[in-house]
Amino acid sequence: MKQDIHLPHTNILPAIIKPLLTWYHGQSNDRQLPWRLAPTPYHTWLSEIMLQQTRASAVIPYYERFLAALPDIASLANCEDEQLMKLWQGLGYYSRARNLKKAAIVIQQQHHGELPQDFTALLALPGIGRYTASAIGAISWGKPWPAVDGNILRVTMRVLAADADIAAIRTKTTVEQALASYYPADSAAGDLNQAFMDLGASICLPHGAPHCPRCPLRQLCLAHDQGKEQLLPIKAAKKARRIEQRTVLLLVQNHAVALHQRPAKGLLAGLWEFPNLAGRLDQSAIKAWLEEHKLTATRLEALPPARHIFSHIEWQLTGWRIELGTETDGSIAETNSQLVWAARDELAERYSLPSAFHYYLPNIFC
Ligand code: SF4
Repeated sequence: MKQDIHLPHTNILPAIIKPLLTWYHGQSNDRQLPWRLAPTPYHTWLSEIMLQQTRASAVIPYYERFLAALPDIASLANCEDEQLMKLWQGLGYYSRARNLKKAAIVIQQQHHGELPQDFTALLALPGIGRYTASAIGAISWGKPWPAVDGNILRVTMRVLAADADIAAIRTKTTVEQALASYYPADSAAGDLNQAFMDLGASICLPHGAPHCPRCPLRQLCLAHDQGKEQLLPIKAAKKARRIEQRTVLLLVQNHAVALHQRPAKGLLAGLWEFPNLAGRLDQSAIKAWLEEHKLTATRLEALPPARHIFSHIEWQLTGWRIELGTETDGSIAETNSQLVWAARDELAERYSLPSAFHYYLPNIFC
């Protein structure tokens, strides 16, 4: 039977709110990110989705480009999938973009085009979990909903000197419930969420020594008091990623490169890729593959190895650039799907190529 999570010293929690907010409102600490300037619920929602797995500085240009193209929920609901994928290209985790559009359609159909202010209704939208629902509610409508991410967890566990495993969902929900009792029910709720995030990003750091002398919570923090800052929080090790070897083929013919569309479900669903094969193929294996598919290469060039890391899988890539001297009927992809041939400008503007394949972009049209 699962044991309940015990959070010690929760009587400290009400006392951390004021110093945290005062620190956040301090001139130099309130980071001026574009989604914090006059945010609408849509802006907050979009930024929170983009910020999952991605640093704020990397998100800014994507966020601005996305909003310029799709300024409101209605335009998101009605956009073409190709446009959506192109706007997301390079951010990774493409299911986030697909869920944004799916949720926008539901909002149009069931919520009169406005994000619902009810926690359960927000959670029912595709791609919105407890963290995102809380962030949207607190920032947009002053709901007393703690948005518990890694930063809030780390700061809270250190302040309380709590040793529960922060990788466990039950720890997260226990912290959420404990903080919710003390959260303000006005615009300060959003500020408090952001204050936690900023403190975790700039002072109470996840790696290396936190900057306790500069921390507004140092007088209250039990981990600091006990010299345990770097021993907390406790986080159980993740399962190791599965390693997959893939051989990427840059098939080039008449100033165009072959692309293949991935299946509609699964990893990188529906995106475009260079044809690729399981395993690490050497030159003789590539020649055999060409012969099998009745293709003649006028030039065959090995490309440097590359590596791409997904959340649960690591691709170790081998690349071959193959200039073809014969016409192909377009049926040579491993999956039997048709190939398309993309010229340089089409590759840049039309097809969404996930970053796993970007390592080989400089090698195509050389
Ligand atoms: S005093 Fe140190 S360990 Fe405690 S919350 Fe502040 S930065 Fe983190």
